[in-house]
Amino acid sequence: MQHSFGWPLDNQTGGGSFLYHMEDEQVMVGFVVHLNYKNPYVAPFEEFQRFKTHPSVRGTFEGGKRFSYGARAITEGGFQSVPKLVFPGGALVGCAAGFVNVPRIKGSHSAVLTGIMAAEEVNKALQSGRQRDELTGYEQGWRGSQVGADLKKVRNVKPLWSKFGLYLGMMLGGFDMWTNTLFGFSFFGTQSHGKTDAESTEPASKHQKIDYPKPDGVISFDKLGSVFISNTNHEENQPIHLKVKDMELQKKSEHDVYAGPSNRYCPAGVYEWVEETSGPRFQINAQNCVHCKTCDIKDPNQNINWTTPEGGGGPNYPNM
Ligand code: SF4
Repeated sequence: MQHSFGWPLDNQTGGGSFLYHMEDEQVMVGFVVHLNYKNPYVAPFEEFQRFKTHPSVRGTFEGGKRFSYGARAITEGGFQSVPKLVFPGGALVGCAAGFVNVPRIKGSHSAVLTGIMAAEEVNKALQSGRQRDELTGYEQGWRGSQVGADLKKVRNVKPLWSKFGLYLGMMLGGFDMWTNTLFGFSFFGTQSHGKTDAESTEPASKHQKIDYPKPDGVISFDKLGSVFISNTNHEENQPIHLKVKDMELQKKSEHDVYAGPSNRYCPAGVYEWVEETSGPRFQINAQNCVHCKTCDIKDPNQNINWTTPEGGGGPNYPNM
């Protein structure tokens, strides 16, 4: 198991990698980019391709064969970002509720534990003949549970990283985890995450374009070839699941002010600005979507709405 922070990202863009060695000489590799990045020219997919060329990992991929690809937004806000968890007849558990522990790079155990907590409350409700109400015991109990205690200790790491960059932010975050763990308090209180990921995107005029290298087809690949191995299928006639609320705003702002970041943050090549004689046209190749939900989160105007597609058509990861 290998984890890294930073490279090839700059000091102001948070993220890092994971590389897991599996049976039969297989590896699972991924690269995380925090979506509160400012530069609209950042392309998380291209950062991932660059990461694989680092001398410390390159040899792992040379001579290998790709068998699957996917992408996913991770709910990283932690303790201070967990939403209301219960609603009549249902509850959010695990990563859907934001229980991932970012600095410890752990999420599965929180998913299992919160699943157990919710199931115990379901059992109590059934035993007492309740139905269609809210599992208030789960909502009221999670902060006092092991999951709540774990997340509370690390609550400032991500905000400090975002505020102070990789090096100083990580040092302050590490220090804060120690004081929380050893003495049960923080010099920083509870830091807020500040702007939303959408609001964090800055106009293109404040940033430089990033010149990403072309894929070599051996270590690095293009988006469409990757989407092909994501095992995602959409029924031909299903309703549109990606909705742009205001096309005029998309042109005036997303294109003219932010230089079309959708083309770069989408890991599946869904969004394109096609230059035509009448002007740029926003094209949505919805059939490529791998359902990461980044567009719903990162569009600078919150003008794109991802809705659940029909059919549960993937991505489907084999060998897991
Ligand atoms: S269209 Fe949106 S949800 Fe689909 S892959 Fe692109 S960014 Fe992700």
